[in-house]
Amino acid sequence: MPEQEMKHIEGILKEEDIMKLEPEEDETYKKVEACQNCGLCLAVCPILEVLQHESYSGPRSITSELSRTVREFWKAKDVVYFCTQCGRCQEICSKNVPVPKVVSLIRSKLFEQRRDLVPNSFEPMLENLNEYGLAFEPMDKEAKIESAKGRLEMLGLPYVPDKVKSNAEVLYFPGCQADNLLPEIRESAKLVLEKLGADYTLLPDLKCCSLPAILMGDSEMVDKLEKDFLEKVKNLGAKTVVTTCAGCTATLEGIRQRNNADFEVKHIIEYIIEDFGREKFEKLLKNHPEHISVTLHSPCHLDRHVGKYTTDYAEEILEILPNVEIKRLEDPERCCGAGGLLNLYNPQISRVIIKKEIEDIQKSGAQTVVTPCPLCLVQIDQALFKKKAKTEALDYTVFLAKRLYGA
Ligand code: SF4
Ligand code: SF4
Repeated sequence: MPEQEMKHIEGILKEEDIMKLEPEEDETYKKVEACQNCGLCLAVCPILEVLQHESYSGPRSITSELSRTVREFWKAKDVVYFCTQCGRCQEICSKNVPVPKVVSLIRSKLFEQRRDLVPNSFEPMLENLNEYGLAFEPMDKEAKIESAKGRLEMLGLPYVPDKVKSNAEVLYFPGCQADNLLPEIRESAKLVLEKLGADYTLLPDLKCCSLPAILMGDSEMVDKLEKDFLEKVKNLGAKTVVTTCAGCTATLEGIRQRNNADFEVKHIIEYIIEDFGREKFEKLLKNHPEHISVTLHSPCHLDRHVGKYTTDYAEEILEILPNVEIKRLEDPERCCGAGGLLNLYNPQISRVIIKKEIEDIQKSGAQTVVTPCPLCLVQIDQALFKKKAKTEALDYTVFLAKRLYGA
């Protein structure tokens, strides 16, 4: 079809709010047509549990609204911005309808064609991505080092300077949160990698993994960040990208798969079990003077988006740590309510969702709750603080560093 004619048709589609899809997107979209309307997903959706059909009609509505000839995607707006992308609906669905993927697709179409419907609360993050390629405004280098040293001192952990070099086996990718807001996670990962004797490097110039851009629907930014990441891994020549964030792990693994890239992406938990080895890890452990009871919150982006085995690995490591007693949650994979940027779109609902998890954590009687995701950590920590709970929330990697370094 001549280019001018094509543009004319695209213009009509845009004016009429009819979604035009790329072939790959069309394939995702078609999967919603497999929905049998059984309603099983309604029983597991954390938003529906809170909103009770009052202003949220649930994952099934995403599929029924969209499986029409005319794809009136904007009608699903309220549903798609409420979705935390927890993946519980897909997990229970016998037809494996990929609701989280469809939600991301609709968000990207809204961003492209109905920018007026994109929540205003996304704007600061969009601006940060445009200006710095990061979800948060970065601190200057010196201030960042000082802040990291201060946090480590409070945790009783030593500081090791950054390593940046070519051809290291491992590239440690901290992600926006650990690089800027929670530097103790980034520093603890370095300490753990040091203890494992890993040949690792950091990036000279970190950019976002692209998950926030996916969730806001900014496809151009997603492409830009994806290219940047692939180019950097190629230039550094790393074989394994190790992360400490559940969202980064799932997102970077998605990029790797889409591009058939010849490196691996692993959360540090996977790296310890699969690459370093459980037995070798056990030999590194010295008895720690402090007995502690811990419980694990498993993030949706690891447990469902990467695989259930990540929760098993996380538990396996905790089990072999000396003087650590595990107290299991009733539902360790419950959604924390912060995913899908719900904490920006509707912080009130996000806070209601975490309540059940907090009750479960307190019921477990554990002194500390650990989670391998900075986003979940912030959500849990804030809720515990608000409740004046005695339970401490710690990032999983920070907890590991403390146990490995006797802190
Ligand atoms: S569980 Fe799957 S098939 Fe059943 S209503 Fe939900 S999306 Fe449709
Ligand atoms: S991904 Fe989670 S929040 Fe979103 S519709 Fe499915 S169950 Fe609900």
